[in-house]
Amino acid sequence: MSRPLRIKLCGIRTVEDARLCAAAGADELGVVFAPRSKRRVSIAEARAIRESLPPALGVIGVFQDAVFDGPEGIFATAREVGLSAVQLHGAIPPDLFSSALGAGFPLPIYIALQLTDRASLPDLSSLRGCARVLLDGPRGGSGESFPWALAREARAHFRGAIFVAGGLNPDNVAAAVLDAQPDGVDVASGIENASGRKDPALVRAFVHAAKAAAQDLPREISRASAHDQESAMSTRELPELFTSDPGPLPDARGRFGAFGGRFVPETLIPALDELESAFREARADPAYREALARLLCDYAGRPTPLFRANRLQTALGAAARIYLKREDLLHTGAHKLNNTLGQGLLAKRMGKQRFIAETGAGQHGVASATVAALLGLDCVVYMGAEDVRRQAPNVARMKLLGAEVRPVEAGARTLKDAMNEALRDWVTNVRGTYYCIGSAAGPHPYPLLVRELQKIIGEEIAQQSLAHEGRLPDAVLACVGGGSNAIGAFHRFIAESSVQLFGVEAAGHGLGSGKHGASMARGKPGILHGSLSYLLQDDDGQVAEAHSISAGLDYPGVGPELSHLCATGRLQTLSATDDEALAAVTLLARHEGILCALESAHAIAALRKLPRALLDDPRSVVVVNLSGRGDKDLGTLISALGGGAP
Ligand SMILES: *Cc1c(COP(=O)(O)O)cnc(C)c1O
Repeated sequence: MSRPLRIKLCGIRTVEDARLCAAAGADELGVVFAPRSKRRVSIAEARAIRESLPPALGVIGVFQDAVFDGPEGIFATAREVGLSAVQLHGAIPPDLFSSALGAGFPLPIYIALQLTDRASLPDLSSLRGCARVLLDGPRGGSGESFPWALAREARAHFRGAIFVAGGLNPDNVAAAVLDAQPDGVDVASGIENASGRKDPALVRAFVHAAKAAAQDLPREISRASAHDQESAMSTRELPELFTSDPGPLPDARGRFGAFGGRFVPETLIPALDELESAFREARADPAYREALARLLCDYAGRPTPLFRANRLQTALGAAARIYLKREDLLHTGAHKLNNTLGQGLLAKRMGKQRFIAETGAGQHGVASATVAALLGLDCVVYMGAEDVRRQAPNVARMKLLGAEVRPVEAGARTLKDAMNEALRDWVTNVRGTYYCIGSAAGPHPYPLLVRELQKIIGEEIAQQSLAHEGRLPDAVLACVGGGSNAIGAFHRFIAESSVQLFGVEAAGHGLGSGKHGASMARGKPGILHGSLSYLLQDDDGQVAEAHSISAGLDYPGVGPELSHLCATGRLQTLSATDDEALAAVTLLARHEGILCALESAHAIAALRKLPRALLDDPRSVVVVNLSGRGDKDLGTLISALGGGAP
């Protein structure tokens, strides 16, 4: 079975060599700044090389003796050239990682180690914060190799990626790959001709031999981390991810009909391009799919059950057969983890060590902090200062999980402002930072990416409905904040004309009150957070404040794909007020023993508002996506219901 192997071609000195190596299929190129190296380049030469390459192709700077050169100089060079990571040889200051972070340096740091024999392999567990080690021969750059099997031993005590270098060439790279089972290989002299230039035939032969050998690697050891290795013995059947085509939308410009697109500062376009191509590659890569499938099963608890809610059906006086899709049973208590797991693995794959997110009520922040802890990423969560105050338990959760929570004092100091601030951070630190958006909103490719990661909900609903009822459901309901649980539940059924789709918005104090979150029912097309979609606006076109008792639905926009489905009539909208949602929490708790999130309660409340033809027909199969559990809402519930009634 195959597993991806990254190929780094190092010691690039000219734009011509860089283009040759990129065309041959290299994943990363290395430029050397070490003063004594014969492959040394100047900053200007390195920048010209960087600029000649597609943004998704990593350029890694190789430095010697960070102790003497000082981390600051290295970081300044990295910024000036636009490096995607730095690789350090020789003496490493013990506090390098903390000083790197202190200097605001968010790029991954790779450490090169020279090995002769087993005794020369240091304890790698001390290299916390190091994204990758490069195991090299005894005298780096000399073309001598080390016993490759040491790389497999190193894996037992190092969670980052392991690359192998030292004396590799087209003839021995296959043996090295099979023996070392590394995440990547690194070569400089083995692909050069006598005059020290990269030789086209050797470059192509090297890439070809390495990739062919990777086909034979056991896939149990995943490239992402040793964690995947430990959890290789899944007791559940892994889902097949991304088997269905993404469909025609979004189009090449990231548009869903009239909606979506990219309305962002120019500086973000390359980063969004890089993200899109990285995701398209990952989606097609069996190793990424398997790593994600394993975490979704063994860590998050997929598949979630589809539960027949008999007593709820009776209480509603409905003839239709009502099922609940139990996303509330997912780890961290909501569907959000489907998205953050996928984006976390993507960040790892892109070599980004810093993982930032925005959050409103804190649910997405908690899911992001969870995944960052799991995968060893550094997590920063932006949260409106008002939300920090209101959502103290989730702030505490994020901190316990090791994330830094940054309160945002701008605007109304809520989700919209946190999202602006996260985008600003990303613009500034784009090279080493991954921005994990929490809903199917934002600039292209986020609505596509988040939908692809959430659509497993609807795929499971289809399978489970076939198993329980022998056919697809007649209707699927989901609450709509930004729209991720809804598009996740709906996407499988968009082309199934027999399945009616209902998006349930927050009616707050009532749709006529001006205090609600019903962007599809009451909004107009406008631009927020980088994309065009339905938006709550005042008469001057200013973004209006949303209101809902459930923080997750308290957002003035909605993702572009739902906007499009709504505009074309494929999606019908319903709504539920704060009071109706509160009553639905109690109804579900009393009749099924399930305490659901206030967001999800909107979808339960909307069951009563379904067309009578559906509700009164005993053959109807209706599925409600129960997006999350209610523990987080206990404070709100206690103050609204006085701890018990009705
Ligand atoms: C965040 C959240 C929502 C709203 O977000 P969507 O992107 O619209 O799904 C709904 N339900 C729960 C439980 C949430 O945590």
